[in-house]
Amino acid sequence: MISNSQKKLAAVVGSLFLSGILFTDPSVQAQTAAKPIDWAAYQDQAVDLTRKYLRINTSNPPGNEIAAAKFFKAICDKEGIQSEIFEYQPGRANIIARLKGNGSKRPIILLSHTDVVTADPKAWRVDPFSADIVEGSIYGRGALDMKSQGLLQLMTVIILARERAPLSRDVIFLATADEEVKDEGSLWMIANKADLFKNAEYLLTEGGDSLLAEGKVKFVGIDVAEKAPFWLRLKATGQPGHGSRPIADSAPNRLVRAMARILAYEPPIKLLPAVEKFFKDVAPLQPEPMRSKFANIRESLKNSGFAQELAGQREYGYLLRNTISLTMMGGSKQTNVIPNEATCDLDVRLLPGEKPEEFLATLKRVIDDPRIQIENTNTFKPPNSSSDNTELFQIITSVAKTYHPEAVITTKMLSGYTESQLYRQLGIISYGWAPIYTTTEENAGVHGNNERITVKNIREGIREFYEVVSQIAR
Ligand SMILES: [Zn+2]
Repeated sequence: MISNSQKKLAAVVGSLFLSGILFTDPSVQAQTAAKPIDWAAYQDQAVDLTRKYLRINTSNPPGNEIAAAKFFKAICDKEGIQSEIFEYQPGRANIIARLKGNGSKRPIILLSHTDVVTADPKAWRVDPFSADIVEGSIYGRGALDMKSQGLLQLMTVIILARERAPLSRDVIFLATADEEVKDEGSLWMIANKADLFKNAEYLLTEGGDSLLAEGKVKFVGIDVAEKAPFWLRLKATGQPGHGSRPIADSAPNRLVRAMARILAYEPPIKLLPAVEKFFKDVAPLQPEPMRSKFANIRESLKNSGFAQELAGQREYGYLLRNTISLTMMGGSKQTNVIPNEATCDLDVRLLPGEKPEEFLATLKRVIDDPRIQIENTNTFKPPNSSSDNTELFQIITSVAKTYHPEAVITTKMLSGYTESQLYRQLGIISYGWAPIYTTTEENAGVHGNNERITVKNIREGIREFYEVVSQIAR
């Protein structure tokens, strides 16, 4: 995924106090099948398969995800689970596997990407494709993003099949190529094979947020919404000349005036339901007076001073409105030359529900200079969200609460985006969530060095994930 806000909550929940609720033994909830599940054997298998999967080098570029697809296919074949590989380009492949339900409910998709970002072995403690276990953690590129999650998904399908769990809906395992670069794997599936999964009701993939501290899960954020990048380039043109003779309305001068107007502009605050829920849920973690203000966030934001203050905070501002970051500037290559062209690039991120053309019209009014040209420089990904008022959201919340009674469990809107944005467009309710709980330090391994996951997390995560999927598919 595009690494983004995961660390931000560390500060928020730093002040969390442990609640006095007694811990409930998860084994009581986990025994949903007719006979008790032999978890130890599945847990051993999960750790073993995670390590094997991490040893497959699917660094993208070039990807070579066919190796991962074949790895999954061999396991599915052995387990008697129907699966099919789609090699859409030499070496680039997706795999889909399916457990049939009785059809009384629509399918759920367990989606992961099989590619990983590149890794510089020199900066790692161990080889990034060794899957060595050091001090209780399995090291490997993809250990968090997102091979461990893909493996938990596959193990869940295996356990459902072996335990002959009753299924009212199909459980679809979908592992795609190229998420880290261009989403070509998922885009190809949606363009060519959507009939295999487009009637799904639910989808689970990456994007959730968590915080583990002092050995306890303190925060579980379920990704229900994502902002959309809408990148813009502004271009001013004007008369060129020698720097010794200033030109009042030169391209750089006009561009800087436009930029100043943009910087002074405050996009309006809009409180989306998922964001309102987030503020209310994290309110108890705040010291006063923020605690009361967060608890009544809709009311609090009517105070323009408070709204201004909150929107100005890096941690919260992006939740409340469309944002504009000035990132690139270009003009003359020489100090004594006034160029005939000056440019700047804006990384604009729109809230779910926003229309890019409306934002553009507003920006043009703000700039108030028809001679500044504006062009969109990225492939637009629509801002998107899924309701949290669903059976699946409720199951995730209640299972997570059972396993981690002291955790705050809430909605999360990402400032970046995942493949959920592609599947939400098909009308599938998509959430970013997995029972993978990391410390702030471990989180730095995502797209960074020494990416790792604890063996404990794999062993415990498999039970929690199975619990959620078996309940929603029951
Ligand atoms: Zn990812």
